[in-house]
Amino acid sequence: MSESTFVIVGASLAGAKAAEALRDGGFDGRIILIGEEQQRPYERPPLSKGYLTGKEAAEKAYVHEESWYAEHNIDLRLGIRATRIDREHREVQLEGGERVHYDKLLLATGSSVVRLKVPGSELEGLRYLRTFDESTELRAVLAEGGQLVVIGGGWIGLEVASAARGYGASVVLIEQQAQPLLAVLGPELGAFYAQVHRDHGVDVRLGVGVQAITGDGGRLTTVVTSDGHEVPADAVVAGLGIRPNVELAADAGLLVDDGVVVDEYLRTTDPDIYAAGDVANAHNSLLGRQIRVEHWANAKDQGSAAARSMLGFDEPFAKVPYFYSDQYDLGMEYSGYVRPGDFDSLIYRGDPASHEFCAFWLNKRTIVAGMNVNVWDVHPTIRALIKSAAPVDADRLADPAAPLADVAD
Ligand SMILES: Cc1cc2nc3c(=O)[nH]c(=O)nc-3n(C[C@H](O)[C@H](O)[C@H](O)COP(=O)(O)OP(=O)(O)OC[C@H]3O[C@@H](n4cnc5c(N)ncnc54)[C@H](O)[C@@H]3O)c2cc1C
Repeated sequence: MSESTFVIVGASLAGAKAAEALRDGGFDGRIILIGEEQQRPYERPPLSKGYLTGKEAAEKAYVHEESWYAEHNIDLRLGIRATRIDREHREVQLEGGERVHYDKLLLATGSSVVRLKVPGSELEGLRYLRTFDESTELRAVLAEGGQLVVIGGGWIGLEVASAARGYGASVVLIEQQAQPLLAVLGPELGAFYAQVHRDHGVDVRLGVGVQAITGDGGRLTTVVTSDGHEVPADAVVAGLGIRPNVELAADAGLLVDDGVVVDEYLRTTDPDIYAAGDVANAHNSLLGRQIRVEHWANAKDQGSAAARSMLGFDEPFAKVPYFYSDQYDLGMEYSGYVRPGDFDSLIYRGDPASHEFCAFWLNKRTIVAGMNVNVWDVHPTIRALIKSAAPVDADRLADPAAPLADVAD
């Protein structure tokens, strides 16, 4: 039995996958997995999809069976917060003062929602969606119907709007940009999603912010938009984005810059401390740049990758980023990474109006990102095309009859 102790702070997807990979990689020392939530590690995507809509059982969201932790000799400490890292003595301090020794430490502290800061945002009825409990509460609210106002046309806001329509609630969606998902998908595909929601009866209001929330007796009743309109609301969900939970790392003097900065081995500026998942601003050796990714696949893959680095495997992290979203009868997967200005053409394969198509972002004839909407079993090929960086024939790419595997020159 190894004498080493590996501590993981953050008992969610990245943390649980790291614990699993440590055991799979042959580590037989002590693993302590510390999480401030009461629930054992779970996946968040169902919280705005199957679980929120009531179609999926809660049990499906958990990363492992309850018995798995004891079976794999993982010391799972739930409902307790790590408050400080003492790098000199290699200890993590927990709420209440207990100090836990580590030989190697993984920070998988994830992220927290950005809170709305306008007059009235303290009123009862304003909700956020990050945790299981918040999803359970929101589910009950949606089931009551009434009028829901969603602030923010990002993935979470749009998925909540979709779930709410499924319950028959009326929904007003307020987005201050010119389109939903503008930063990720650009104006054309943002407009596509806006139209999908309008077609399902959502009142989509673009280019307007929120100046205040007003209420009665401590409970919200109205959202006042930046152009002065008063929108009645029985409930409001704000999906304004997230911020990485970097406080532990920053207080410990680790390099932090939009997340905990790690190299391609997910190692921080302290060689015994690693970071993975939403909190990590990691060097992706495939993309040749630092990126912080706020998605499920990244948390899953980086948790495992960090664990393998902690075990001494020499495997730089080089995955093509990937995420997915389900809204109404529309399922999409997105592979790659592109920022405005990083591409010179957008090519469609299939007609978006048919709701079955792919879109590709190209830079100098190579695919930098691809999205498949209601077209299945293609994302491994799309990821391979991105990974190969091979120039592609735009005509073949745009032709749904031409095999996707044959579009490279
Ligand atoms: C509603 C919702 C739907 C989503 N849907 C999708 C989707 O469809 N597709 C997709 O790709 N991604 C989706 N995501 C994003 C995805 O869930 C996240 O990228 C993923 O959860 C990140 O995992 P993580 O383990 O890095 O961090 P987190 O899931 O944020 O977990 C971090 C954990 O660490 C704990 N923690 C933090 N600080 C401390 C501390 N000091 N001490 C102890 N514990 C601490 C937190 O309480 C939390 O439990 C969704 C997210 C949400 C909220």
